[in-house]
Amino acid sequence: MSRFWSQVVRDLTPYVPGEQPKIANLIKLNTNENPYPPSPRVLAAIQAELGDDAARLRLYPDPNADLLKQAVARRHGATPDQVFVGNGSDEVLAHVFQALLKHDAPILFPDITYSFYPVYCGLYGVDYATVPLADDFTINPADYTGRANGGIIFPNPNAPTGRVLALDAIADIARANPDSVVVVDEAYIDFGGTTAIPLTRRFDNVLVIHTLSKSRSLAGLRVGYAIGHPDLIEALERVKNSFNSYPLDRLAIAGAVAAIEDDAWFADCCRKVIATRDTLTTDLSKLGFDVLPSAANFIFARHAQHDAAELAKALRDRSIIVRHFKLPRIDQFLRITVGTDDECRALAEALRQILG
Ligand SMILES: *Cc1c(COP(=O)(O)O)cnc(C)c1O
Repeated sequence: MSRFWSQVVRDLTPYVPGEQPKIANLIKLNTNENPYPPSPRVLAAIQAELGDDAARLRLYPDPNADLLKQAVARRHGATPDQVFVGNGSDEVLAHVFQALLKHDAPILFPDITYSFYPVYCGLYGVDYATVPLADDFTINPADYTGRANGGIIFPNPNAPTGRVLALDAIADIARANPDSVVVVDEAYIDFGGTTAIPLTRRFDNVLVIHTLSKSRSLAGLRVGYAIGHPDLIEALERVKNSFNSYPLDRLAIAGAVAAIEDDAWFADCCRKVIATRDTLTTDLSKLGFDVLPSAANFIFARHAQHDAAELAKALRDRSIIVRHFKLPRIDQFLRITVGTDDECRALAEALRQILG
């Protein structure tokens, strides 16, 4: 705290990302990164963009990242004017809160969800109300109908539960709220859900957000995008062009295009993660964990006899880190990222020892 801080800064409660410890031989299962490297085409594209002397870095990147918008549009059967790109989907989300969710009525999101949402509300002065998940941690679409709101946002699959909502249910929410933007944050959709992107053609109020951080193995490159009606995209462009004209650098644009175009690599990584998730779910269930059905690259699990914080600490003592949220309703759960088969085997073995 300093006398130089503005009132806004004094009142902020910033997001706390999962730690990135600088420890060797760590098994890092705490921030949902992909255990596999990105497509080799990403490296080739970045090297080509750099050239022999990196002379192109003298020049600003394309402020509109047109090549990337075209690649995203091609992949999803959209047009470039239905695509917005940003420096990670967190930045895209930030612009969404300011451009499309700031209204007189409170916006709605689940009580258990991505913990960045209330942070953006604090930053941009967006009023919100949380909607409790059902006892089985699913979203009930009826809870989002017949209720005045300034917008609706939820991840699908939800984070950190991993539970997925069917497309019909999302369509019901969109139909019941024609004057609200319904934002579907699909950070994990490629690991088992059905994307709501086709709904953006039927509903002018549906906006779908994707990231290259998880299923494309590019958390370090910082690229995310939104797909929706051109009027929604234009709002995001207005905010972006009032904030930072060049959110994506040259290397990020080149690498992202290459990643999006390598479907075979992407499909193979997703398939491996899904297979490992299913094995991990079975192994942990055998150890007495209650594992929620996951459509993501992580599982959410609790043990009836063992405290989650203590388990997380015991794992940490064995150089395995997982995520524990000290929050109501979920403080007995661990969120465990699906790593390689070897990493998940090591995790299960460590838990076997800890549980005795
Ligand atoms: C990881 C994640 C994001 C952020 O992704 P970036 O593109 O890396 O900023 C957004 N939403 C949810 C639900 C996530 O889990």
